[in-house]
Amino acid sequence: PEGSTPTPVATVSQYACKRRTTTQNNNKIFTDAFEVLAESYEFNEIEGRCLAFRRAASVLKSLPWAVQRLEATQDLPCLGGHTKAVIQDTEPSKLCSFRRQRSCHSLFTSVFGVGVKTAEKWYRRGLRSFRDILTNSHVVFFPAGFLHYGDISRAVSEAEARALGNIIDEAVRAITPDAVLALTGGFRRGKEFGHDVDYLLTTPELGKEEALLLSVIDRLKHQSILLYCDYQASTLDMDQLPCRRFEAMDHFAKCFLILRLEAGQVEGDLQRVEGDSRSWRAVRVDLVSPPIDHYAFALLGWSGSRQFERDLRRFARLERKMLLDNHALYDLTKKEFLEAKTEKDIFAHLGLEYIEPWQRNA
Ligand code: ATP
Ligand code: MN
Ligand code: MN
Repeated sequence: PEGSTPTPVATVSQYACKRRTTTQNNNKIFTDAFEVLAESYEFNEIEGRCLAFRRAASVLKSLPWAVQRLEATQDLPCLGGHTKAVIQDTEPSKLCSFRRQRSCHSLFTSVFGVGVKTAEKWYRRGLRSFRDILTNSHVVFFPAGFLHYGDISRAVSEAEARALGNIIDEAVRAITPDAVLALTGGFRRGKEFGHDVDYLLTTPELGKEEALLLSVIDRLKHQSILLYCDYQASTLDMDQLPCRRFEAMDHFAKCFLILRLEAGQVEGDLQRVEGDSRSWRAVRVDLVSPPIDHYAFALLGWSGSRQFERDLRRFARLERKMLLDNHALYDLTKKEFLEAKTEKDIFAHLGLEYIEPWQRNA
């Protein structure tokens, strides 16, 4: 019957890595509101609240049923007083002002290269639009994203991601026929749209992966489809313990690219706004090159979602006394690194049931 809870809520874990979350979100109304608030708290550096709303959103995303009444959420984890107040809609005025602030924030952070800090700085200076920024003499640094802003702020479709996959695959094979190439990020989780396309690429022979990445970039450049490249060399040092903070970038060689994708390469058509008749668009692509012995950790780490990753690390730390990051799993009790060839090995080390990539949309 309507309003009832078909699954026993007591079985819902507080950890996203113990829940199965597909792309089908039955509580978008609430999770959107929670995410507006989470983002707002993040900008204002109120970390606790931010995290609380992110966790609450993630719990609701995992439910196979739609929340109809507040009572239905009674036994759910991570839903505190504040989140319940939002569900009850007792804070609509607050939500409204947050939403106004957020529309500027997300306008700014949607520019490739603009992070939370920069967006917040611009906002505090009273800047509210791109024109404000471009005409403000204090802003001396213009991120690369401004170059292709219209294109890269538009979602990438599955068909476009596939077309890019073919281009990358062709480039990789031409250089190293037996290279390992894997789709990661949102598209690996079965999302229909993304803000970029993420790939992992490596070589069966240890130590050759960085050269492969550089050669791929070089090839894309010669094909005249490389519009922008931010290359970061590897800074891997295995003497270091895994970093405790998830937000820390990993140390693999990687590049953040903007590529030119031709309409003719895409099954169907490019994602375009009405009236746009160009034969190509710009797309953001991330390529990461972990050494083959770190492959499983890199694949798990880059497959996301961000919330799923956060909770994997939190679960490892709090429930297993282990440190997990994109490079390794370290057992603090045994004082040793735990080896893994596949993602399944990592879940097994953590004593977790395996969660498929399409169930990680936490
Ligand atoms: P979208 O569709 O918006 O791209 P996504 O899940 O693919 O969604 P990304 O920002 O592309 O999001 O990142 C993919 C995953 O890779 C994230 O979930 C995050 O865990 C991981 N990740 C992203 N950037 C880094 C980085 N610099 N260092 C380590 N891990 C990262
Ligand atoms: Mn992505
Ligand atoms: Mn990415």
